[in-house]
Amino acid sequence: MDIALARRWLDAITRAVADRADYLTQLDSAIGDADHGVNLTRGFGAVAAALDEASTENVGEVFVRAGSTLISKVGGASGPLYGSAFRAIGKALPPGPSATAAEFGAGLIAGLEAVQRLGAAAPGDKTMVDALAPAVLAFKKSVSDSESLSEEPRGGLAAAAAAASAAAAKGMQATVPMQARKGRASYLGPRSVGHQDPGPPSTALIFAALAEVTAATAS
Ligand code: ADP
Ligand code: MG
Repeated sequence: MDIALARRWLDAITRAVADRADYLTQLDSAIGDADHGVNLTRGFGAVAAALDEASTENVGEVFVRAGSTLISKVGGASGPLYGSAFRAIGKALPPGPSATAAEFGAGLIAGLEAVQRLGAAAPGDKTMVDALAPAVLAFKKSVSDSESLSEEPRGGLAAAAAAASAAAAKGMQATVPMQARKGRASYLGPRSVGHQDPGPPSTALIFAALAEVTAATAS
């Protein structure tokens, strides 16, 4: 993961959430307050603008800046949660313009921990954590497996991102029958069962974007 790839990933997320904003907001209208797509479009739009203005020598700083922007620009719960995740990823990366797949995997773990520290949601509570936790763990496992086979570092990153994206999508689907225990959807109690919470789909988009940009780089 290097500065250019980090920026391409964030740009791909910005495009994906803008494309899917209506869908995300529609999901949030059934189970929350109908702003998830709007929140993320505003937040990642501001990230794109903030990164255009900034230049840096450290890949971690790209993520710290993105996270701080999400925290300051998004009113809903998802801004501080995703913002803390990106800040934690950035702070976990070593100084310098690039990080190995293993270092980036450790950053993703730090991001997951930040979301859980802030939101106190565990897997099974029907939140973004149900897509984020399996994605991060699949990423880490794929990197360890590819390291033991001594594959190309870049190929290792693309394979790990593809595994994370598949795990996020699977985790997302598994949340539909759950009852929400955190966030606004929990106010619905048993009536949240059968609805898709909007957080897992946005997390799945974020990892699909990572898979897309890393696949393009590896080939
Ligand atoms: P808000 O709920 O404030 O309107 P958003 O609609 O942007 O914010 O984001 C809602 C999403 O945030 C939910 O679908 C859920 O996945 C996630 N979320 C809410 N609270 C928590 C929490 N405590 N921990 C983890 N994720 C949460
Ligand atoms: Mg909402």
